[in-house]
Amino acid sequence: MPLYIFVTGGVLSSLGKGVASASIASLLEEQGLKVNIQKLDPYLNVDPGTMSPYQHGEVYVTEDGAETDLDLGHYERFTDRYMTKKNNVTAGKVYYNVIHREREGGYLGATVQVIPHITDEIKRLIREVEEDCHVVIVEIGGTVGDIESLPFLEAVRQLSMELGKDKVLFVHTTYVPYVKTAGELKTKPTQHSVKELRAIGIQPDIILCRSEMEIPEGIKEKIALFTNVKKSAVISAPDVEFIYEVPLIFKKQGLDRLILEYFGFEYKEVKSKWENVVDILKWAKEEVKIALVGKYVSLKDSYKSVVEALIHGGIANGVRVKVLWINSEDYDEEILSEADGILVPGGFGERGIEGKLKALTYGRITQKPTFGICLGMQLMCVEFARKVIGLKDANSTEFDPFTPHPVIDIMEEQKNIKKLGGTMRLGSYPCKLLEGSKVREIYGTSLIHERHRHRYEFNNSYREIFQNMGMVFSGLSPDERLVEIIELRDHPWYIGCQFHPEFKSKPFKPHPLFVSFIKACKKN
Ligand code: GLN
Repeated sequence: MPLYIFVTGGVLSSLGKGVASASIASLLEEQGLKVNIQKLDPYLNVDPGTMSPYQHGEVYVTEDGAETDLDLGHYERFTDRYMTKKNNVTAGKVYYNVIHREREGGYLGATVQVIPHITDEIKRLIREVEEDCHVVIVEIGGTVGDIESLPFLEAVRQLSMELGKDKVLFVHTTYVPYVKTAGELKTKPTQHSVKELRAIGIQPDIILCRSEMEIPEGIKEKIALFTNVKKSAVISAPDVEFIYEVPLIFKKQGLDRLILEYFGFEYKEVKSKWENVVDILKWAKEEVKIALVGKYVSLKDSYKSVVEALIHGGIANGVRVKVLWINSEDYDEEILSEADGILVPGGFGERGIEGKLKALTYGRITQKPTFGICLGMQLMCVEFARKVIGLKDANSTEFDPFTPHPVIDIMEEQKNIKKLGGTMRLGSYPCKLLEGSKVREIYGTSLIHERHRHRYEFNNSYREIFQNMGMVFSGLSPDERLVEIIELRDHPWYIGCQFHPEFKSKPFKPHPLFVSFIKACKKN
């Protein structure tokens, strides 16, 4: 049975608990431990798949096709562990299971209640990820004091009693604001949020203090005193330029040693692999500018994995990546001309489509490296049909169901689907690469597996005419029915993929397409 670390949050949301949990996991991995990480989300959606990116940021897709919270992206990027459906539990999923079981007669005779039935189900789902690991880190979404998080906190409190306190560690993340007029960092919100946590029976062992700046020793002492933790367990988590600095900041303050010693493991002096990554990010002189043309650009979290994958491509090429955000609803050629490369990411719905098409025309004609992901690839096909082949009203049936040229169309299997939750083509699928194509060289292999999240596909009745006009279908499903990658024969780097390569990129395993894209932009 593994050991457990429960990570809670106080005072504010958006404290970066996900990055903190992922950083702890990575430090423990560096100590030779096997770690799994789970996110508990207090909302009632069964998963975030149907939520707008404006609500929730990106929906992260796992190998097994779960649509999950974007924090799972951090967990995968920071560690060696692959996330699965079991690594993200929402209140919606918990209630769904309990109500379903009630209808089946699973609780005959009982009144079904939050305690014990909901809390039991939460505990059961937490324990589903404990196989093959020494430590499980469970991040509890939301803020202590919210009505919604209460059942989750109660469940982990019970679990700590059942497992034994020496097998469980509570990490509480709080906010320590700097009040300019007073010229001081304030500890009161932290004191109150810990008080709130204690009221429900949880005493934190470690306090992570998010703040604009480093927390000085005196303030750490004060927090330690009021929250009843050791001073060495009050950890400063200041704002950073790059999230990959976080493990190093924790390590410098001995957070990894503290956790290891708490659980009775021996601590080893190791050089952290993050040092190299941060060095490159900080000292790289050359900068590559990528125009990211999307409709959700006002909330940068909507493109979290894409931006991280670009940064990874930058690390591999020893350059910094600067993203120039372009709202596809107001197409801006000036910014495009400044950029070294253009990226059109995934998306849903008609808004902003024309701006993306214009950006793709620009990239195609000016021969700038251009990368289309999912919807981006589909629009590359629409643009090509309209502007190169001359099929004027070509479109995807997602945007014009009656287009005379449906070059992108809904999949046969999707036509009768009425329920929208969890019903797209989701998760990892194989794709074979065409000998002699650019992507075959970029990947250096003939068979790849990539993650999908879409309903529409390239319409095969247009394959021949596209090919004759210079488009190469360089990635196909093994049965050759589905177009997975396209590229232009007469362009240095114009590649679109139906899948989302960004989900598989890590700082230590940068995705080949992003590495090659940034390399092409660098040359530009
Ligand atoms: N809206 C498109 C589809 O469903 C593309 C989805 C995406 O970009 N993830 O096929």
